[in-house]
Amino acid sequence: MEKRISGHTGLMALFGTPVGHSGSPAMYNFSFQHDGLDYAYMAFDVNVEQMPKVFEAIRLLNMRGGNFTMPCKNVAAELVDKLSPAAEIIGACNVFVNDGGVITGHVTDGVGFVKNLEVNGVSVKGKKTVILGAGGAATAIQVQLALDGAEEVKIFNPKDDFFVRAEGTKAKLAKRCPECSVTVEDLDDKEKLAEAVNSCDIVINATIMGMEPYDDVSLIDKSLYRKDLVVADTVYSPEKTKMILEAEEAGCKAVGGKGMLEQQGAVNYELFVGKKMPLKEYQRFQE
Ligand code: NAD
Repeated sequence: MEKRISGHTGLMALFGTPVGHSGSPAMYNFSFQHDGLDYAYMAFDVNVEQMPKVFEAIRLLNMRGGNFTMPCKNVAAELVDKLSPAAEIIGACNVFVNDGGVITGHVTDGVGFVKNLEVNGVSVKGKKTVILGAGGAATAIQVQLALDGAEEVKIFNPKDDFFVRAEGTKAKLAKRCPECSVTVEDLDDKEKLAEAVNSCDIVINATIMGMEPYDDVSLIDKSLYRKDLVVADTVYSPEKTKMILEAEEAGCKAVGGKGMLEQQGAVNYELFVGKKMPLKEYQRFQE
């Protein structure tokens, strides 16, 4: 460390609260060191009210890039100079890149999800998709599916506060991606859900169900699985959710959430430094 950090080292950071559990500093610092890049990545615990000062610091310290996590993603989108198309539709950003004083905000959860499908041999172009959830991760995925040419995005969510958000996403996508059909349904309507799963190519869980302590739950009845269905989960803890295990048993292509997390990190790294992240080396290092 004392050899790596010098008077020239550039700073990158994660901002939000809480940030103490984040794996990002370890992943990016490993990658900078591996690639011989003179950057250091830190995590700073800040709240929404402090974000204008965070942006002053980003500019003052000439930070190259970094990440925003909850609850700072929405306010960050108001403070950047430019937004990527997905970040503009969503009104939030989890990544910033500083190009000579011009700060651009990006949303990369959806890009990471789609990349992870690609790594697993699945393209979303022209595909009929069913997605459970309407929170942060689900919205980013819905927007990316539409931007990347999915034919259908059928959203199912319980009638909670997130349901209204799903209707908002549908309205925004109708304007921005009119060629993609977006519908919003109540997750409790099991008949409609079964119909949608029967006629789709890819079904995605982007709710908190399946994650500990809900790890004994899968929102899709396993009788609906068929061999040509792709089943994807955003949940990465446990690494194999009940949904993924049941899909594998039925012979579906099953894609878990850990890869999405990793691919998102790789997408961010490329935005920061313009290079592929040494993901395999980092995975080996973690073992
Ligand atoms: P969020 O709080 O923004 O959204 C929660 C969603 O869960 C909402 O759609 C809500 O309606 C739904 N929900 C809550 N209780 C439910 C219930 N009883 N039945 C059905 N649905 C219910 O959360 P988020 O940040 O979008 O995270 C959602 C999931 O995505 C989590 O499991 C998280 O682990 C995962 N995630 C994964 C990655 C990754 O890189 N793999 C990244 C971000 C989030």
